[in-house]
Amino acid sequence: MTVPWVIGETVPWSAAWSGETAFALQPSIDFPGMTEVCQIERPGAGEPNFAAVHVTRQRRGLARHLCHVCGGQTPIDDRWMFPVASGGFVTLHDGTVGYGCNVPPMHSACAGLAAAQCPHLSRLAETPFRAPAEEGRLIWRTDVVPGMEALAATFPSGQEIVYSCYRLFSPAFAQVVEERRGAWERETRARREGP
Ligand SMILES: [Zn+2]
Repeated sequence: MTVPWVIGETVPWSAAWSGETAFALQPSIDFPGMTEVCQIERPGAGEPNFAAVHVTRQRRGLARHLCHVCGGQTPIDDRWMFPVASGGFVTLHDGTVGYGCNVPPMHSACAGLAAAQCPHLSRLAETPFRAPAEEGRLIWRTDVVPGMEALAATFPSGQEIVYSCYRLFSPAFAQVVEERRGAWERETRARREGP
C-alpha cells in the first residue's frame, strides 16, 4: 500500500474511508427542494481512500466553512485556500468570470500541514492563500463525481441529484486568483530554470 497523506495519526477530515461505502438519496439540507446523495459516516473505518472525497463531508465543509483537514469551523480571520491547486474559473451569465472553489477552506495551521504533507500540494509548492472576506455563493453540482458512476447508474433516471458543490467568488476575487496563478507560474519557471 502506498503511504497516504497522513497527518500524525490522522487523515484529512474530508477524505473518504473504505468503510464508508453505503449511500442513500435524501432531501438536500443545503439546497432545499433538491435531492442529494448522502454517504454513510464512519471516519476511521477501514483504510482512507485519498482518491475519493466523502460527498457528504465535502458539501458540509463548503456550506459551513469547515476545515478540509480537521473538520473544525474556520473563522473568517483564519480561513485559507490553495487557489493554484484547486478550483477554476466560471463564466457567469453576464459574461464576467468568477472563481469557483470545490475544496473546503482550512485553518492556517492545517493549511501549513497540508502544504507540507499532501503530495499534490507539496509538488506544486503552493503556499496557503487567505480566503477573501466575501462569503461567495454556494452552488450545487449534479454531475456524477468521478468514481461514483456505478452507483449513479442505480439512481432513478431523469432525476436531478446533487453530488457536490462549490463556492463561487466574485469577478474581483477571480482577478486576484488569476494574478496569483500568474505569479506562481513565473516563480515555478524561475525555480526550474535556476539562476
Ligand atoms: Zn483545521
